[in-house]
Amino acid sequence: MSVSYKRSICWVRRDLRLFDHTALAEATYRSHEVFVVFVFDPTILDLLEDRAHLRVSFIHRSLQEMDRKLREQGSRLWVLLGNPATVIPQFAKEIQAEAVFASRDYEPFARRRDLTVQENLKLAGIEFLDFKDQITFDPHELATAEGNPFRVFTPFRKAWEKLFIADRDAAEAVSDLNKLARDDESIDYPMPSLKDLGFQEVELWLEPGEDAGRKRLANFASKLADYKAKRDFPALDQTSTLSVDFRFGTVSIREAIRLTLEHPSEGADSWRSELIWREFYQHILFHYPDVVDQTFQPQYRDIEYPGSKEDFEAWSEGRTGFPIVDAAMRCLNATGWMHNRLRMVVASFLTKDLLVDYRWGEAYFQRKLLDFDLASNNGGWQWSASTGADPQPYFRIFNPISQSAKFDSEGNFIRRWVPELADLEAPSIYFPALAAEFDLLTASVELGKTYPHPIVDHAIQRDRAIALLSKKPITES
Ligand SMILES: Cc1cc2nc3c(=O)[nH]c(=O)nc-3n(C[C@H](O)[C@H](O)[C@H](O)COP(=O)(O)OP(=O)(O)OC[C@H]3O[C@@H](n4cnc5c(N)ncnc54)[C@H](O)[C@@H]3O)c2cc1C
Repeated sequence: MSVSYKRSICWVRRDLRLFDHTALAEATYRSHEVFVVFVFDPTILDLLEDRAHLRVSFIHRSLQEMDRKLREQGSRLWVLLGNPATVIPQFAKEIQAEAVFASRDYEPFARRRDLTVQENLKLAGIEFLDFKDQITFDPHELATAEGNPFRVFTPFRKAWEKLFIADRDAAEAVSDLNKLARDDESIDYPMPSLKDLGFQEVELWLEPGEDAGRKRLANFASKLADYKAKRDFPALDQTSTLSVDFRFGTVSIREAIRLTLEHPSEGADSWRSELIWREFYQHILFHYPDVVDQTFQPQYRDIEYPGSKEDFEAWSEGRTGFPIVDAAMRCLNATGWMHNRLRMVVASFLTKDLLVDYRWGEAYFQRKLLDFDLASNNGGWQWSASTGADPQPYFRIFNPISQSAKFDSEGNFIRRWVPELADLEAPSIYFPALAAEFDLLTASVELGKTYPHPIVDHAIQRDRAIALLSKKPITES
């Protein structure tokens, strides 16, 4: 491809890596000199209540790694602070850039932001070029036979698989690192410390950055074949834990897909299908941005959930008296991560057993999750609440006790996070309220004292949930 720009910017956002990076590859092929830039936007940072913030720490440390890697190439990362609509055009003018390259972001806020940045750049005669990077197909590339967006997962996956051509859709985007702008002391936008940004350093349970992310991916290769059989058991370490890497782009989605093609198996197919779920929710969010505030299924928009604030608090603090729910919530509170099976269990429990509005749970996850992603979180919550695109049918309600028996049969996950039940054997550990007095005594469990009584009766709440939701049957999509 011929070089058309003297100087350009590669503005990184949720693509914090150098390897297999579409916008960077395009920028380096089309320009003589490329400045890699990140913007800390106070509009986003100011909204964050917790000053010891997991995601801010993850981003900051990933950027430090990126800066180090760029310096190894004789370049560096330029870090701006301010509203991108102002600071990107200002910086572009200062360095006399002719174009800004970026990876496409499909969230409603990001789309509005990018449009404003593009307009402001245009006023200065600077081009804005964005590229598909974090998903395989852009929302307009996949449609039903009638030309509509897919609203159901399986036909979406089938269409994805039909359209997919590995050499085209999972090819590595190779950058020409010789084109990176030399570090220039006259253009000094140093990396602010977390303290400068008003945040504290936080201990993270997994290593941030591209190197650690790619290592996670490589290590996961040995687990891929067993993924389908073992993915549902939270006590086993059998899922990839790459969600945070896909969220911040420390791992390329194409590299992940290539892994499934290089190690073909039932497990690899199953894992790729999960990556396609992620893409499905990105498309849903793009086509139906109103899901951020309201149910995808219109018949549920006026639903009034009777659940109480006290029950919500017991849920969020892990003291519901249902051990699998409590263990999962305590794990989330301590680490910022939760296994997918447990996300489904606790979301079902909140919405169907406690009859609390799914938006409260969604907001709680947004606050706590290291891998928080608007599209997947909203999709997961609306799936569990039976209000979303292709959701869990409202009459299929998880029983938290049989979920423990099925997916944590020895009680090991519960034991790890609810230490006051550590000496209780399975099956008593699934639900101490039904355990024999003798078992409780020998395990030093005193209900109401060392561990809470159940805050609800599952059988009663299940019927109430069905009554609440069945008045408004789910329409076929
Ligand atoms: C209520 C609820 C909330 C959720 N919130 C988020 C969120 O904020 N961010 C997030 O990344 N995922 C979310 N998920 C999806 C899923 O739980 C996590 O992606 C998964 O647990 C991450 O672990 P992993 O990387 O080991 O997954 P793996 O099992 O290794 O799966 C590989 C990748 O596929 C994607 N994926 C897997 N399952 C799903 C799914 N059900 N929906 C969408 N993508 C999926 C993720 O990117 C994941 O990293 C949520 C699910 C539920 C039920």
